[in-house]
Amino acid sequence: MIKRVVCVSCPVGCEVAVDIADGQVRRIEGNRCPRGEAYARQEAVEPMRVVATSVKVVGGERPLVSVRTDRPVPRRLIPEIMGAVRRLAVEAPVEIGQVLAEDLAGTGARLVATRAVRREGTTGTTAGDPRRQFGERGPAP
Ligand code: SF4
Repeated sequence: MIKRVVCVSCPVGCEVAVDIADGQVRRIEGNRCPRGEAYARQEAVEPMRVVATSVKVVGGERPLVSVRTDRPVPRRLIPEIMGAVRRLAVEAPVEIGQVLAEDLAGTGARLVATRAVRREGTTGTTAGDPRRQFGERGPAP
């Protein structure tokens, strides 16, 4: 079986043909460089994607925060990951880079906020109450 893949590793966009038999890659043609071979092999056998979406925020200045996975995940697991993300709700404030979920669908990928959301009715910093991050006694002196 020949799978055709457009390499997106650079703007040239080579069309690469991957010959697969019995689940094994037999031949790869059409790539102009080794990056294209690696990309096409991965894409033909186990396509990977970074997931970018949003998560519900409770008590925030906006109801959603944009998020993305910190690494590509198998495309076949995206429905399972999106189901988990839809059930997720985080309390404001949310910081850029804050990890909102770990090991999505067993992939090891983390879900990371890509923007900050302040608490409703607050201005300035999004740091919030340090007791929320460090426990009731706050950060160590
Ligand atoms: S195979 Fe190489 S030259 Fe072609 S699109 Fe991919 S990275 Fe670019």
